[in-house]
Amino acid sequence: MDQVHGSIVLVSAAGGPRRPLPSEGREVEAVQAGSCDGLVSADPSLALSVLTADCASIALGSPEGVFGAVHAGWRGLAGGVVEAAVAAMRATGATGVVGALGPCIHAGCYDFSEGDLGDLAGAYGQGVVGTTTAGRPALDLRATVSAALVAGGARETAGIDACTACAGGYFSHRARRDTGRQAMIVWSDGGAEA
Ligand SMILES: [Zn+2]
Repeated sequence: MDQVHGSIVLVSAAGGPRRPLPSEGREVEAVQAGSCDGLVSADPSLALSVLTADCASIALGSPEGVFGAVHAGWRGLAGGVVEAAVAAMRATGATGVVGALGPCIHAGCYDFSEGDLGDLAGAYGQGVVGTTTAGRPALDLRATVSAALVAGGARETAGIDACTACAGGYFSHRARRDTGRQAMIVWSDGGAEA
């Protein structure tokens, strides 16, 4: 994905339009799907990836073998990227969609403007309103993703509960201006076990 903090979700198949990335002799061909913040596929020959350093990465699965990867910062969440990805999963043949959250910045480390916080609380409820460890207004990104999965009609399953800013071992744009990124890779074993 060429991630743009939007809500566009693309459906990817091996024959689809993609831009090759330098593969440097690896056996796996790396390709870019285009400008989007969600990818959905039913093609078991593909693995989808999302890169983050504080934003939420979300893996989506289904019994039908349709799977997805989502990049969700607060702008994407406000734009409905999670719900759009779940809808794209259904349009591609998934019935019960399950989502799992990767490491992201937690409320304790996520100073957030009260105006934008009010907008997100209006959309997803007061559960998204958090407090930083210093007592300032914060966005609870995890709670926002959970609410968005529910809003989309998906079920949430356990992911990785770690704060990228303070847990150690993760890249954080906000805490350290890190230029590195976590990669979440999502693929399908063909279905049945979502
Ligand atoms: Zn933290």
